[in-house]
Order: sequence, then C-alpha cells, then structure tokens
Amino acid sequence: MSASAALDRLAAEVHHDVQARIGEGRVADYIPALARIDPRQFGLALHTCSGETAAVGACRQGFSIQSVSKVFTLTLALGRVGDALWQRVGREPSGSPFNSIVQLEREQGIPRNPLINAGALVVTDAILAGRAPQVAVAEILAYLRELSDDMHIKVDREVAQSEADTGFRNASLANFIKSFGNLVHPVEHVLETYFNQCALRMNCVQLARAGLFLAHGGVDPLTSHRVVDAQAARRINAIMMTCGHYDASGDFAFRVGLPGKSGVGGAILAIAPRQAAVAVWSPGLNAAGNSLVGSLALESLSRRTGWSVF
Ligand code: GLN
Repeated sequence: MSASAALDRLAAEVHHDVQARIGEGRVADYIPALARIDPRQFGLALHTCSGETAAVGACRQGFSIQSVSKVFTLTLALGRVGDALWQRVGREPSGSPFNSIVQLEREQGIPRNPLINAGALVVTDAILAGRAPQVAVAEILAYLRELSDDMHIKVDREVAQSEADTGFRNASLANFIKSFGNLVHPVEHVLETYFNQCALRMNCVQLARAGLFLAHGGVDPLTSHRVVDAQAARRINAIMMTCGHYDASGDFAFRVGLPGKSGVGGAILAIAPRQAAVAVWSPGLNAAGNSLVGSLALESLSRRTGWSVF
C-alpha cells in the first residue's frame, strides 16, 4: 500500500471508531453565534511532514477556530518580543477552566500561561504593538493565510460581534489584568483584536496545514520557510502539551499523548513531532470545553499510529 493510501485508510478507520459517538457533547452556548451549530458533525485532516495528506468527514466545513488561535498568536508574539514575553505571562498549567479569574489576583495580574484566556489577552496586547486593532487583526489573518497556504481564510464578523456582545467575562479579565499594569493598550483594543482572532473561520484541512511547522522544528516542511526558531517551536509544543486543554490537559496527555490545542468551536489541533499535524472538528464539547468526539478521534489516531510523544 502506498503511503498516501495507508494514510487515507488510517483517517477512515479513525472516523469509523468515533462514528457512533458523533453528536455527543454540548455546543458552546455562551457565544450565541456558536449555540446554533449542529453538534452532529465531524471532520479530520492530517498533513505529514513528508507532504502526504488525508482527510475525512466534514474536513472542508468551516468553523470558528476560537482558542486554537492562541497557538498562532503566541507564535507571532514570540517572534516579535522573544523571551521578554515571559515577564508578562507564565508557562505553568493553571488547573482551572479557560476563562477563570481566580489566580490572577494572587499572582498580580500575570496569567499562568498563554493558552488560557487571561494569558491570550496579554499575548494579543503584545501583538498590538501600538497599532489599531484592525491592523493587528489584518496581520493575524495574513499570517494564518500564509501558514495554511490558503488566501480564502476569513474572520467571521458575526461570531466576533456575538462574542463582543456577550464577552463580559473576557472584559473582566482584561480590566483586571489592566489594573495590574499588565496590558499596555486600551482594554477595548485588546478585546476587539482577541474576539476577531477567535472568530477566524477555517476548516480542518487549512488548520492542519497551518500547524505543520510545529511538527517540523519551526520550519514549514513543504516550503522550507522558517516560521520560528527550533527552540520556540519546542516550547510552543511543550505549552500545548501542558496547558492546551486547560484543566483537562493532564487527561488529554494521558489519553492522546500529543501537544494539542482545543477551541470552544469544537476544533483541536494536535502535533505529532516529526510526523504530522492533525486537525479534528466536532462541535459537541465535554465539561472542560474541549471537543468530546475530537478528543476521542485523536485518542484513536495516536493508538493506531503510536505517535504519542511518550
Ligand atoms: N473566544 C472564546 C472565549 O474567549 C475562546 C475560548 C475557547 O475557545 N476555549 O471565551
């Protein structure tokens, strides 16, 4: 069997493994524009470092990438400010839900890590670099288009607006961080940029392609373009592994054993170092706000391939 036929078969087997569970979980209803999405959908795409691809199910159906965007803004911010970022945000798992505020007071406005909402707001502040939100959003969008090699990616303005209308918790987090002096820009600018980055609409094929540099030491293996240095790529993977699923990060490491980042739109980007980047999407979430069927699919994939980093 050719490598690509074997990969197609793997994707089909994973799909089959989760088929009976598709529709389980609850869609994120705290963002009204996401509450309407049918949970009975599933897509998977993978890109290997040697250039093979496979995809199944609703792999070309667009979705809101939500917190998966935090991986890309972290990459951008590290490229821009380097290690200075770690003065403003930590790199320890929080053991708390994605939108928790409790640790911020005790830790003087320094968020635990860049993948919880509080930390992502600080990262977004670093990206703004004195510019208007629209300029930063355009930069993030151009970055994702370049990484995924697809100019069709857009920001879903309806989702961004829906989140802005109801984003009281994120507004609280941003104001609280600002009170400690850990946001440089106006709170409204940080929130506008953050809501738009979360509202990026992508599909599994695009998302897996965009994450491929993380499986290949920071270099896009298909174009040889260096996105970040090798050390930064290793560190981003480490943070995804320890923090990418919030207070369920330990469980994800236990079940899947790969660096991963989830979003409340139902997507998960997982990285199999030196092998492949995988994107799954299924909108029903588990209690920690991570795709229920997406996690099961990645568990099946790592079992079938042995791609776990452990
Ligand atoms: N935009 C969402 C929020 O800030 C992202 C959360 C997530 O995907 N976990 O609430």
